[in-house]
Amino acid sequence: MRIALLTDVHANLAALEAVLRHAEDQRALDEVWVAGDLVGYGPQPGECLALMQQYPLFAVAGNHDAAATGGMSTDGFNLEAAYANAWTAERLTPDDAAFLKSLPDVLQREGITMVHGSLRAPYVEYIFGEDAALAQFERQPTHYSLVGHTHVPLLIEEVPGRRRPILWPLSDGDVIELGERRLIINPGGAGQPRDGDPRTAYATFDTDDRTIACFRLPYDIESTQQAMTAAKLPERLIRRLTFGR
Ligand code: ZN
Repeated sequence: MRIALLTDVHANLAALEAVLRHAEDQRALDEVWVAGDLVGYGPQPGECLALMQQYPLFAVAGNHDAAATGGMSTDGFNLEAAYANAWTAERLTPDDAAFLKSLPDVLQREGITMVHGSLRAPYVEYIFGEDAALAQFERQPTHYSLVGHTHVPLLIEEVPGRRRPILWPLSDGDVIELGERRLIINPGGAGQPRDGDPRTAYATFDTDDRTIACFRLPYDIESTQQAMTAAKLPERLIRRLTFGR
């Protein structure tokens, strides 16, 4: 089986379409996994949910999904994120809201534990550094975990006998072999990259080869920005897509 691994789609339809087109070429659409934040920030929540639901979809809830459906307050959000979240909540159909509410915080599948932020704090914690990574490894019931939330592609590897894990930034074309070492894998923000590369990010998982391949793809950023402008979403959220920051 070959699976498309996404996180942080954030209602960015052009980015999602680019990812799914590429995954189709790779024959990697047996399942689509999304490690949270299906909506929020972006202009097309309904369209993105409908498109993802055309595939066998396995997803966990992110902080934006929870906040848009009353499962979490936006008190910890910055002003623009909170505004976009309220905008999203107003536009979700009852079916879309019910679907987002039904998403679990943690999901195990094919030997991988999926969670948006971290197992210690699924909606809140960012796994950027060693402390958060160590806490994740302590709680990780499977060899591997798939996370999002930071919008930065990153592989973290536990090294037996060594306290500190190794952090590997992930680039287009990188292939991760799922071997004996325990790993935390973040494929990057599909709908709002934040590592300085504006291209959309995702990965494919081959369950037979036990490999994960990472990709960065150009997409029609302007069409998403135009839809955001038409929706009067905050200017800073529109601009950041140009820079991937
Ligand atoms: Zn996010």
